[in-house]
Amino acid sequence: PADGAGYKRVLLKLSGEAFGGGNVGVDSGIVQSIAGQLAAVVRGGTQVAVVVGGGNFFRGAELAEAGMDRRHADYMGMLGTVMNALALQAFCEQVGLQTRVQTAIEMGQVAEPYIPRKAVRHMEKGRLVIFGAGAGMPYFSTDTVAAQRALEIGCQVLLMAKNGVDGVYDDDPRTNPDAVLYEDLDYATVLAKQLKVADATAISLCMDNSMPIVVFNLLSDGNIARAVAGERIGTLIS
Ligand code: UDP
Repeated sequence: PADGAGYKRVLLKLSGEAFGGGNVGVDSGIVQSIAGQLAAVVRGGTQVAVVVGGGNFFRGAELAEAGMDRRHADYMGMLGTVMNALALQAFCEQVGLQTRVQTAIEMGQVAEPYIPRKAVRHMEKGRLVIFGAGAGMPYFSTDTVAAQRALEIGCQVLLMAKNGVDGVYDDDPRTNPDAVLYEDLDYATVLAKQLKVADATAISLCMDNSMPIVVFNLLSDGNIARAVAGERIGTLIS
């Protein structure tokens, strides 16, 4: 957006790591805090959809490495994302924020199926939309789904919230204190240097369709609002 003007519609990707606070399962304190931040942003008039990851429960590639059939492992991974979606919905509703969960695998008692036009309608009515179950297909990541959903429902930006890192660095800041934060990057550099932002499928989908990505630190309170307001935090990939 132009300086000072916030985004109207955003897609926020929350990794499973965010939900678990680095552990297996859901850390309710963290999810509560995310819900509070999301409520403020939606009440401020921004339309928000969230894609949740599931790495705090299962990562298909890891289970496959340990000997499980990859497709079973990936479906388990997708079901894990649904648990995160429900946790986020529960805490959002506690703070009075209306939400709808839509899943890419149908499970009518739990959530609506993914219907893009309906998702847009929900957002227009001030409801937070939470997408679970990834793409409903093995061999995909929730990062790629975040890029796809952002495109399909007409978001202006893909906001990738990271757990404890401020953006994209030239090296891992957790092990190299001299790692330098990039403020701006182009997609091709992210791909060529294999920078750890998202998988290559997600980055190239954004590149092919000019979807900007903002990578920022979820753990600094108020950062979701800052990113939504179009403040220059973290790393902008465009
Ligand atoms: N997954 C999948 N297809 C999708 C999205 C996710 O098979 O469209 C599986 C995959 O096994 C992945 C797991 O679900 O490892 C959890 O998602 P992801 O690893 O993307 O979550 P995050 O890293 O954001 O926590």
